[in-house]
Amino acid sequence: MFEKLRSAFSDAAKSLGEKELNEKDIESILFELEISLLESDVAGEVIDEIKSDLKEKLIGSKVNKHEVEKFVKVSLISSISALFDAVEKVDLIEKINEKKKQGQPFLVLFVGINGTGKTTSLVKIAHLLQQAKFSIVIAAADTFRAGAIEQLREHTNRLNLKLVAQNYNSDPAAVARDAVLYAKSHKTDCVLIDTAGRMQTNENLMQQIAKITKVVNPDMKIFVGDSLAGNDTVNQAREFHKHVQFNASILTKSDADAKGGAALSIVKVTSTPIIYLGTGQEYPDLKPFSKETFLKDVFGSLDDVDIKESPKPEPQLESPKPEPQLESPKPEPQLESPKPTVVEELTTNSSDDPFEGINDDDIATYSDLYDIPPPENDNDAIKLGNKIRKWIKDGRLEPGESKTNEEIKDDVHKQDKEEEPKKKRGRFGFLKK
Ligand code: GDP
Repeated sequence: MFEKLRSAFSDAAKSLGEKELNEKDIESILFELEISLLESDVAGEVIDEIKSDLKEKLIGSKVNKHEVEKFVKVSLISSISALFDAVEKVDLIEKINEKKKQGQPFLVLFVGINGTGKTTSLVKIAHLLQQAKFSIVIAAADTFRAGAIEQLREHTNRLNLKLVAQNYNSDPAAVARDAVLYAKSHKTDCVLIDTAGRMQTNENLMQQIAKITKVVNPDMKIFVGDSLAGNDTVNQAREFHKHVQFNASILTKSDADAKGGAALSIVKVTSTPIIYLGTGQEYPDLKPFSKETFLKDVFGSLDDVDIKESPKPEPQLESPKPEPQLESPKPEPQLESPKPTVVEELTTNSSDDPFEGINDDDIATYSDLYDIPPPENDNDAIKLGNKIRKWIKDGRLEPGESKTNEEIKDDVHKQDKEEEPKKKRGRFGFLKK
C-alpha cells in the first residue's frame, strides 16, 4: 500500500538532506515534491497546504545539514497528521449504541458511484455489525441498476439478514421508508440503505439521494470511493459532499492501491474522516482507518515523532468464526431497460407487527397521499397501522375524493383520541411502563 506516496515523501526528505538550505533549493525540492504528490493522486489543495507548511518550517529554521532529512520527515508527518486531526472522529459502533439506548434504529445511507464497491462495503459493514451482535435490516434502494436487488439478496441470504426491497423503478425513498418502518416495528438496531450509483444524469442521482435523505433522515451518510480511481474518487467525493453532505467515507480496494493519495485528499477536501478501508473481496476485509497506520505505511517508523493520536475505540468483535465467502456474483447490467419484477415482500411472521396484514404499497401510498413521516416510535407505528387499516376499509380514498383531506385528518385525529386508553394496555411489552 502507498508505495508511491512513501517514495514521494522520502525523496523530498533525502534531496533536501544533501543540500544547503537556501530558498532556491527549497523551491526546487518543493516542486519535485509537488510532482510526486500529483502522481500519487494527492489533490491540489492538499499539496498546497503540505508545501506551504513545509516551506514555512524550513525557511524559518536553522537546521544542521545532517539533520535536515529527519527534520523534513518530521515536518511532513506533523503536517499530514494535523490534516487528519482537523476532522471529527466518527465511531459507527458508538453511534449505533447511542441510538439503541433511545430505542431507535440507526439509519445509514451509503452513497457512491457504481463499481466503486458500495454494495460490497455495505454488506461488509452489515457483517461487522452482525458480529458485534446488532440486528440489521438492509434496504435495496438502488431500484435503477439491473441486478442491484439480486446482488443484495444474494448477500442477505448468505448472511441471513432481512432485506426490504420493491420492484425495479419503484421509488427508492419508499423502499428506504419501508425498511425504517420495519426496523421500528421489529426493534431492529440498524438500517443500511443502498442507493443508486448512476442514473440518467448526475442531477437525477443527487435529487434521488436528497429525496431519500428527506424522507428517512439518516443518522449517518457514508460515501464509498474506490482508492484505485485516485483523483476521480476525490472529485466524486467533492461532488457528493456538495450535494449530500456525507459524514464519513469508506475507501475500497486499498489492498491494491499503491498510491495512497486519495485518502489524504478526501479527508482534506470534504473535512470528513475515512472510517474504514476495504482491503479485499471477503466480508471481513474491512479495516478501521487509523491515522497512525497510514503514517507508518507512508513514512516507515514514527520514532521521535509525536503525532498525538487520541486512542480510538475499536469495535469489539467476537472471536473469528468460519467466514462466509463473498465471491460477488454480480449480474452484469443489461442494456435494455429493466422490467419490473416483484422481488420481495415485507413479510412479517410475528403478531406484534403494527402493520400486520397491510401490504407495503398501501403503507407507501397512504404516507405519500397524506404526507406522513415515518413513525418515531412503536406507539406511532401502531397508530399509523390503524389509520392505514381504516383508510383501506374506507376504500383507499385520495384527498379530495368524497371525503376531504380535512375530514380524513379529523377522522385520524378522532382515531388518535380513541386509541389513547389502549396505550396503557400495552400491546408491546415496552409500552407497559
Ligand atoms: P458497486 O457497484 O459500487 O456496488 O460495487 P460492488 O460492491 O459491486 O463492487 C465492485 C467490485 O469491486 C466487485 O468485484 C467487488 O468484489 C470489488 N471490491 C469491492 N471492495 C473491494 C476491496 O476493498 N478490495 C478489492 N480488491 N475489491 C473490492
